[in-house]
Amino acid sequence: MQKIERIAQLRDFLRPHRERRLGLVPTMGYLHEGHLSLIRQAAKECEQVVVSVFVNPLQFGPGEDLDRYPRDLERDQKLAGEAGADILFTPGVGEMYPNGAKTTVRITGLTDRLCGASRPGHFDGVATVVSKLFHIVEPDRAYFGQKDAQQVAVIQQMVQDLNFPVEVVSCPTVREADGLAMSSRNVYLSPEERKQAAILYKTLREATREREAGRLCRAAEAVQFIRERLEKAEGLLIDYVEVLSYPELEPLDRLDGDRSIAAVAVRLGSTRLIDNVIWPQEEGTRCTSP
Ligand code: AMP
Repeated sequence: MQKIERIAQLRDFLRPHRERRLGLVPTMGYLHEGHLSLIRQAAKECEQVVVSVFVNPLQFGPGEDLDRYPRDLERDQKLAGEAGADILFTPGVGEMYPNGAKTTVRITGLTDRLCGASRPGHFDGVATVVSKLFHIVEPDRAYFGQKDAQQVAVIQQMVQDLNFPVEVVSCPTVREADGLAMSSRNVYLSPEERKQAAILYKTLREATREREAGRLCRAAEAVQFIRERLEKAEGLLIDYVEVLSYPELEPLDRLDGDRSIAAVAVRLGSTRLIDNVIWPQEEGTRCTSP
């Protein structure tokens, strides 16, 4: 596997292989099984796989964890290679934003709720860096995790609106044995917080069961059901609990119609955790621009 830091070098490397189907897995590194599942899926479907590792300053707000975000490039290189990546693209901030960043890609509507409301500007940073990566790598397919379901919806909208010739593939959330969604940020949790964190998915699963049994028919009831349980968890601060249509992320009344998402964000100590389930449950999606 090749590790490449420069955009020009990556383009030179990819140019002779343009007939090969190319997959891109954008990450911020410190890879775990969630990332590796995306890389394995890409390797199954594509003849060449680029994994990018870039901790993108544009998507962090003031006071967020940019400076302490965990990093281990050597380990990432080993794990990505074993999972089937051909190239690890690891540009520095100066390589990605040599003159600062004066162009912003902003998706309206979808980005002003859920994590977009709690983290103003976050999705501008995500959309800007992902569109740069799409231009740099020109992948046929790009792989994202359903764990960040709002991100998937935002990227799918961007791909449609800007006619990026890429298929967006979303892959199921990979979880720890107790259900906690894997995340690079889980290393911030103290042993006590780590135990508490399982309540997120446990509650979402209970709500899923209630919905499937026909006992939760309205979005507001589902929100209340989830909120009541999370509020009882010690040391846990709720950022949001929402049930919206998916991928439109619009308010909903009844839950028996189209797809919906139950999404939660909480704080445990200094760590912000998110999780979600899609109803009816599904195994990831695919979406291309018209
Ligand atoms: P990150 O490095 O956190 O920016 O994540 C890079 C990609 O991996 C994003 O598309 C995430 O949605 C995805 N990802 C992160 N955690 C998981 C997980 N537990 N399961 C599946 N995909 C994940």
